[in-house]
Amino acid sequence: MDKEKMRFGTKVIHAGLEPDSATGAVMTPIYQTSTYHQKTPGEHKGFAYSRTSNPTRKALENNLAALENGKFGMCFGSGLAAIDAAIKLLKSGDEVISTDDLYGGTYRIFTQIFEPFGIKFKFVPMNDMAQIEAAITSNTKMIWVETPTNPMMNIIDIAAVSAIAKKHRVLLAVDNTFATPYLQTPLDLGADIVMHSLTKYLGGHSDVVMGALVCKDAVLAERLYFIQNSSGAVCGPQDSFLVLRGIKTLHLRMQRHCENGKVIANYLKSHPKVAGVFWPGFEDHPNHEIAKKQMCDFGGMISFTLKGDLQEEAYKVMSSFRVFTLAESLGGVESLICHPASMTHAAIPKEQRQKSGVLDSMIRLSVGVEDISDLLEDIEFALNQI
Ligand SMILES: *Cc1c(COP(=O)(O)O)cnc(C)c1O
Repeated sequence: MDKEKMRFGTKVIHAGLEPDSATGAVMTPIYQTSTYHQKTPGEHKGFAYSRTSNPTRKALENNLAALENGKFGMCFGSGLAAIDAAIKLLKSGDEVISTDDLYGGTYRIFTQIFEPFGIKFKFVPMNDMAQIEAAITSNTKMIWVETPTNPMMNIIDIAAVSAIAKKHRVLLAVDNTFATPYLQTPLDLGADIVMHSLTKYLGGHSDVVMGALVCKDAVLAERLYFIQNSSGAVCGPQDSFLVLRGIKTLHLRMQRHCENGKVIANYLKSHPKVAGVFWPGFEDHPNHEIAKKQMCDFGGMISFTLKGDLQEEAYKVMSSFRVFTLAESLGGVESLICHPASMTHAAIPKEQRQKSGVLDSMIRLSVGVEDISDLLEDIEFALNQI
């Protein structure tokens, strides 16, 4: 079968993967080696040193490229290492326009690691295309989009931002961690680079920290492989194997994350102690139409705030869950809760945090794939404690 034409549920299991050429092993082996035999200097079977390339990592990179409808994948030791590599495409004096409601670690690497090297970041609300255009200067080299945003669950119109990026000849990078290629494929909407924290849905089992970039353009890919090899923030073969294994059930997990997410979002919306629920599947969500246009479903990430907005009440609720686990991260099979203001977004100054809506009582749910009745009972019990 033509691998280009496979549907998503087939690609997750087969794309980029061949039985092992040495042994016929159906599952990609863990090539736990740093180096490879050369017959004469430079004469080898495509692998010379595992920072540059490793067969297990390569299989994952090819699989990810196929899932994102791209051509080239690069894997890294974390999502932030992937972001680090993407920003190293730039140089001092260049400017990046970024989503303002951003993953805290991304905000931190932009402002505290790259700004001191002379790269400038402008944080712009990306529901307003005019503000993006207004922020572009002759030094702008990249637009960085995260959608759905974290934790506000705003949806940014990737195709509309792409039109602006193309008009001004700047690169468009999209952090697709929350959506996954099951829900949306940014390269098809005009993005140049897709970034993932594989730690989340793609790994899916909360047992590895890894990241990736995917692109279509060969020249861009060559530069990114050069950065991957030169900066060296690569992942090991064991972790690559775990993510490959996780991806095989991505479509099944995402389907259940979405189903459970929908039930819980609606339950929270009608709960008397809940003030606001942020989930793009609601028809009255401000970006619902964009979500419907660019995503095939609405995901299992939900944020909500409590009436009265008291942090101590949020803390009481969060420590009362028995199935949901209070922890950083998201996207695993198990349901997690977190408190964005003090956890994922602690690196963002309070004033800026509140401006983008991350209130003190906000609780973020990563709805897992457990039995929905147990999840609902757990939420009801926790909310009854206040
Ligand atoms: C977790 C996360 C990152 C960072 O990835 P790590 O694997 O933790 O380094 C970046 N963006 C988003 C949206 C994330 O959720």
